[in-house]
Amino acid sequence: MLGQMMNWSLTIPKILEYAAAMHGDTEIVSRTVEGPVHRYGYADAAKRARKLANALRRLGVGEGDVVGTLAWNGYRHFEIYYAVSGIGAVCHTINPRLFAEQLVYIVNHAADKYIFLDLTFVPLAEKLLAQFKGVKGFVLMTDRAHMPAATALPNPICYEELIAPEPDSIAWPDLDENTASGLCYTSATTGNPRGALYSHRSTVLHAFAHCMRLPGISAEGVMLPVVPMFHVNAWGAPYGAPMVGAKLVFPGPNLDGASLHALMDQEQVTFSAGVPTVWLNLLNHLDQVGKNLATVKYMLIGGSACPQAMIEAFAKRGIEVIHAWGMTETSPLGVVNTPKRKQLALGPQERMQLALKQGRPGFGVEIKIADAEGRALPWDGKAFGTLKVRGPWVCSGYFRQPPMATHDAEGWFDTGDVATIDADGFVELVDRTKDVIKSGGEWISSIQLENIAIAHPAVQEAAAIARRDAKWGERPRLVVVLRKDAKLGADELRDFFAGKVAKWAVPDDVVIVEQLPHTATGKILKRELRDKYGT
Ligand code: ADP
Repeated sequence: MLGQMMNWSLTIPKILEYAAAMHGDTEIVSRTVEGPVHRYGYADAAKRARKLANALRRLGVGEGDVVGTLAWNGYRHFEIYYAVSGIGAVCHTINPRLFAEQLVYIVNHAADKYIFLDLTFVPLAEKLLAQFKGVKGFVLMTDRAHMPAATALPNPICYEELIAPEPDSIAWPDLDENTASGLCYTSATTGNPRGALYSHRSTVLHAFAHCMRLPGISAEGVMLPVVPMFHVNAWGAPYGAPMVGAKLVFPGPNLDGASLHALMDQEQVTFSAGVPTVWLNLLNHLDQVGKNLATVKYMLIGGSACPQAMIEAFAKRGIEVIHAWGMTETSPLGVVNTPKRKQLALGPQERMQLALKQGRPGFGVEIKIADAEGRALPWDGKAFGTLKVRGPWVCSGYFRQPPMATHDAEGWFDTGDVATIDADGFVELVDRTKDVIKSGGEWISSIQLENIAIAHPAVQEAAAIARRDAKWGERPRLVVVLRKDAKLGADELRDFFAGKVAKWAVPDDVVIVEQLPHTATGKILKRELRDKYGT
């Protein structure tokens, strides 16, 4: 017998229409590429998204077409998110920091019909233009006054002129909630990037989870996603914030410490989200100017492991770090570190041990760890194995790729991460499968070594990599960047590890460098370090 409840499909435009009706005057504030700060309310954003949806149809964009974006976090990008998905097309957010050949690959693989781009990225698109196969036109996300006098881009369309003549009403099509809505490619460190194809249903359910798992996301809150909208939908903020009526603040291209600090204070931001590298810069800036963040209560930190020193630095400023783990393939929220009631009674040291873990899944994410044969391992916080996940916002395959070994017969997705799970379901990442250091049959976690190194006051950033060794197979080597004007000898840093890890896990040697290479998403590019320092 079927229930008699309405089949109200979970589609993306409903989020924006809700925000327009219920929180119409709640602001979206954006730093723009052109310079000034732009502000309007959810009602205006919805009007303009509807105008854009009409314009897209006029351009011939229909269901199943893919529309690319090369853009910062800003209000026009937000409108594109809703307009493109709303008419049944797919919003393909392109990470402009990818290598040129990867950009060309994904634009062609996705078959982008149009590309919307911020002025910043016009030279990039011009450079790669000849290699983009099927792109019919480029929409420059600006007004007439800021259109470049000349551009090599064919058929350059001005965003404001495109939407101006259109009506601000639309009957959104009644899409099947499983219709594809968005596309994001991983920044694969080897091989071609792979696309995760999100659906309306997965996006809406993920937005519910976003609001459910993150404290302070509410109509009283002000959310500033530093994590880019071109990287896994800014971790869901452009959907979660309107779903609860939180004010949204978009930083545009200015992601340095001073700019973020100014914007956070000015707009009374209560919640922000980003990768550790960004926060390192912000903390350095705050130290330099001797200031604090006036209103921020929570920082969501993920993408790579959040070091203890960072959790402490924010705690000293009255800000709670929420550590989280996720992937492009998991929309991205997988596990989020918020304590259970019984854990509130833990002492400071135990609380810190807990905070360093990546977190626990909420409803909608199933997890397990498995050994090499695929057998489930115990949740004792000690046994470690491949982390596998399942759920309605986890990818079931890759866009336009044959089925892969990443998915097993029971539907589990192999994350490529190695982790432990404790009795309370808290996941702690040991390493990425390919980054773990295998020394004489023992596994050494590069993340653990990096966390210790970075706690040393002279160390700014650290990477632990495997160095080939005739006797042990691999041995750990540290590559570190020192803080400005700091001095540190290799032995001194090695001594710092005493008592913190087993003797055999202490790095054999330390290489001091000016800077570390990073991936397009701000992670340390270990492959490059291994090539250089791994022998
Ligand atoms: P990309 O490789 O494109 O940057 P993702 O952003 O999807 O792709 O990266 C996901 C990976 O980032 C995870 O598989 C994991 O290795 C790492 N990661 C994410 N969050 C954390 C975290 N909190 N701690 C440690 N590693 C993390």
